Parts: sequence; structure tokens; C-alpha cells
Amino acid sequence: MAKGCYASARQKTRGRSPCRRAWILTLSSKKINKTRKYGILPAVIYLSPSTESARWNLCPNASEGCSACCLGHSSGRMVMPTHKACRIRRTEFFMEYRAHFLAQLRHELSLLVGRAKRKGLRPAVRLNGSSDVPWETIAPEIIGSFPQVKFYDYTKNVQRMHRFLARRQAGCGWPLNYYLTFSRSEDNEADCFRILELGGTVAVVFDRAPKTWYGARVIDGDRHDARFFDRPGVVIGLSAKGKARKDSSGFVVRERMA
Ligand code: SF4
Repeated sequence: MAKGCYASARQKTRGRSPCRRAWILTLSSKKINKTRKYGILPAVIYLSPSTESARWNLCPNASEGCSACCLGHSSGRMVMPTHKACRIRRTEFFMEYRAHFLAQLRHELSLLVGRAKRKGLRPAVRLNGSSDVPWETIAPEIIGSFPQVKFYDYTKNVQRMHRFLARRQAGCGWPLNYYLTFSRSEDNEADCFRILELGGTVAVVFDRAPKTWYGARVIDGDRHDARFFDRPGVVIGLSAKGKARKDSSGFVVRERMA
């Protein structure tokens, strides 16, 4: 990030930095580390999921079940108060100082690209590690400026997913290096079926993953997070973790439901 931008953002908050930790990209996290063995140098942005920040909701399509079980606040180190405070400060930075945030993101992406080049790896960035922000409309120029970076996300926004599928098929109007996977909740199953029919991919949380889900092949989504490797029309089976193990909302597909 341009130092001046960050300093001015700090000043505006009367000495309280909106993102005291300063870095937007997290380079090491359980969610993304497994992709390293596929020649990928991964990074992720953790903003506040759903209603974690009292001021903004960055997951407008979150269901009751996914809000309660979200790995973005309920698993591993994500539950730690320091990590929560950092997500909230990063969210404030994103919402209140958008231009500065994007300038810093651009700078961090340049560093990531350089690092990947030195290590002989391919950089990949999950922009929504714990949010559902339409980056293709907020920062298409950033995605377009880094064609060597694979950007990928999960989304619960069905319109966004349909836009991704339609525009990718038409070969225009969607950043070529940005890949989306639809994410099932207890309230969007009909959308999942339609998306699978159209050749999209759908992530489903299971207590025990079956081989197929309503006729679609289920692959092991816990092996790695590089979703842009997935074949069209597959279901990405994720195991219930954190609070999701005790879910009773229907967000987790139980064996008897599958
Ligand atoms: S939409 Fe995704 S990131 Fe947001 S609360 Fe639900 S599971 Fe978490």
C-alpha cells in the first residue's frame, strides 16, 4: 500500500488504524494451505462474515444456518478474539476507506506475484475467505491487472453465479481469471440443482459425503481449496467443521437427507 494512503486513513480515525495489522492478504491459513502441494502460492482475505461486524453485513445472501456455522468465525484460530478484531478492523478499512483499501490490495498482490515468481509457483487468491462481496463489480480492474493470478470464491448470491456462468460462456463481461463456486444452504437447494444443470459447481457441507448428490458426482472438497481446478457440474463435498458439526438448521446435509 502506498504509505501515505494508509497514514491518511489512520489520521482520519484519530490515530486508531482501521486495520492495525496493516496486511489485507493472509498468506497462511488452514483453508488455503493445502493448495501449496499443487504448485500454488495461495492468499486469502478475511473480512467479517454476515453480522459479525455490527455495522455492515458483507454476506447479504447468508442463511440463518450458514451465519451460525460459518467457518469464518467458528473454526480453528478464527474463533480467537484477536482474529475477530482484525476481521472487523479490515472490514471497516474496506467499507470506509475503499480507495485506500484497493490501493493496498493492489500493492500486496504485486508482492505476492513477485514472491510466486521467485518460488516458481502460481499465485491464487480467495478474495472472500469469509464474506460474499461481488469483487467483479467492485474491483474488476484489479482482477484484470493481474492475469497471472487465479482469483476464486464461493458465493451464495444466485444472480451473481448465473452472471458468472452466462458471461463466461459468452466469453465476455466477466474477468477470465475469476472463478466462482455456488454454495448450498438450507434455503437454496433449487438454485443448486439449476446451477449444476448449467455446468456450474456447487459446494455442499455434509456430515458424511456421499458419492453422488442428486445424481451429480461429489468430489472431496477438503483435499484442497483450488476450486478453479474443478470440472463443470460437480458437487464439492465439504465436511462439517466447527459449529457446523452440531447444526440442526439443515445447512449441513445429514446422511439420511442426501
Ligand atoms: S455466506 Fe459464506 S461467508 Fe457469509 S456467513 Fe454464510 S458461509 Fe459464512
